[in-house]
Amino acid sequence: MSTETLEFQAEARQLLQLMVHSIYSNKDIFLRELISNASDALDKRRLAGLKDDRLRTDDLHVDIAADKDARTLTVRDNGIGMSRDDVVGLIGTIARSGTAETLRRLRENKEPAELIGQFGVGFYSVFMVADKVSLLTRKAGEETGVRWESDGDGTYTIETVEDVPEGTSVTVHLRPADEEDALHDYADEWKIREIVKRYSDFISYPIRMGDETLNSMKALWARPRSEVKDEEYREFYRHISHDWSEPLDIIRMRAEGTFEYEALLFLPARAPHDLFQRDARHGVQLYVKRVFIMDDSRELLPDHLRFVKGVVDAADLSLNISREILQQDRHIQMIRRRLAKKVLSTVKDLMRNDPEKYRTFWREFGRVVKEGLLGAPEDHKAILDIASFASTAGEEPTTLSEYVARMKDGQDKIYFMTGESRAQIENSPHMEAFRAKEYEVLLLTDPVDEIWVEAVRDFEGKEFQSVARGAVDLPSGEEVSQERSGAYAALLTWLNETLDDVKDVRLTTRLTSSPACLVNDAEGLTPTLEKMYRAMGQ
Ligand code: ADP
Ligand code: MG
Repeated sequence: MSTETLEFQAEARQLLQLMVHSIYSNKDIFLRELISNASDALDKRRLAGLKDDRLRTDDLHVDIAADKDARTLTVRDNGIGMSRDDVVGLIGTIARSGTAETLRRLRENKEPAELIGQFGVGFYSVFMVADKVSLLTRKAGEETGVRWESDGDGTYTIETVEDVPEGTSVTVHLRPADEEDALHDYADEWKIREIVKRYSDFISYPIRMGDETLNSMKALWARPRSEVKDEEYREFYRHISHDWSEPLDIIRMRAEGTFEYEALLFLPARAPHDLFQRDARHGVQLYVKRVFIMDDSRELLPDHLRFVKGVVDAADLSLNISREILQQDRHIQMIRRRLAKKVLSTVKDLMRNDPEKYRTFWREFGRVVKEGLLGAPEDHKAILDIASFASTAGEEPTTLSEYVARMKDGQDKIYFMTGESRAQIENSPHMEAFRAKEYEVLLLTDPVDEIWVEAVRDFEGKEFQSVARGAVDLPSGEEVSQERSGAYAALLTWLNETLDDVKDVRLTTRLTSSPACLVNDAEGLTPTLEKMYRAMGQ
């Protein structure tokens, strides 16, 4: 069979460069990445077997073999394997969006460790320790296999080969041992054992070396809370989220009775770059009695909590359950409600007990959580309770209860103005009267703010009122005097006749230094919303 030499896609090549010059101090993680891929492949194989008898196989596992003399390390799985196209598409390319941005940040050295993996660069980490990698694979159900090889420069070779076992084996040709650093000899069995134990203990398939099984395979969420070490949670979080930063908080739930389930959820500390993209991975993993069923089960959490990572293990679902059935399942809907409630109440606890973490949370995810104010009426109160907003009262964001506590005597509304930035809003003539009379105004700058303020009437009985709309009555506001109305009547008539695009021109007390301002109808769109619609061509 002929061997083809292909080039890595440009972005993949740049990432490889970063790996070869290893920007990470901890190289151990390459093995974790390989095992994680093997585990994913075994999950897929198990699932494929449930759907198609011919693909069914027992004894799913990972084998690790090291050869100290040849300086190689091989990680083999009998998982789903890859076709030739898979290999070219998955290993030679970085398909996921946002890679350019990642690369920029990696190169600028902005917390690089936390970015790796989020974008499917996991496999490439092997080039931190390898001067050559050889991958042999056969997709379950296919006749022939594929050999892929690269030494981490710009190209790889690929050829079709016969007699390859189903699954994938990755052979790492280790760089020459670092004399001074015997601790990092990855051909050393002791070292391998240590890494597997540390990073991959919870993997639910046996990871073997010779006759020995290296991992305990115990599901974290099934172990008593007190027994699980923080470090184990952290590793598990990395495994499922591909996020290297520490989670802000960990949530464990358990329900017994008619519908049993266990959940282990994580609040991430930073928003992934693709939070607002349609194809983004979100949702949590669904297990049934410790058996992995699917990733990204959006049905288990409402959209506005899509950044939450974790696992839900339900006892009474069929292993064959499909996404379509999940969507309709009454129990799943019930779980979703409970998880949503619990996540929101956990954030409320953070607010009280760890304001620093709360602020991080809201900065990263507030924009998403507020989407819940558009639908999900059952979450409105909980969301408004944990929301905070920029305000004229100070530099720090304020919660609504803090705003209400500062309301002036006789003030019965929560005033806000939407716009593109704090500065833009603060310079608006609409703000003048409020500033002069020292009424606090919330400064809402997220696009979603435009919409939820329409959907949500009030917070604790205090209505939301845009300062840019209609005749805002400031409680202490003076009326426009008779005299002045008379004096300006002719001018107003003339203006009203002359300005075709303007519905009405009237005198106001709301301005203190600007001569005039445009306001919208009480029923009309706010200026930013109008701009948004116009931009969308409506
Ligand atoms: P990620 O795991 O985040 O998707 P990786 O770079 O680790 O990114 O792997 C890229 C892709 O290559 C995987 O998504 C998977 O489709 C494929 N792959 C890697 N290793 C294996 C394996 N052992 N068996 C099957 N497919 C694999
Ligand atoms: Mg991976």
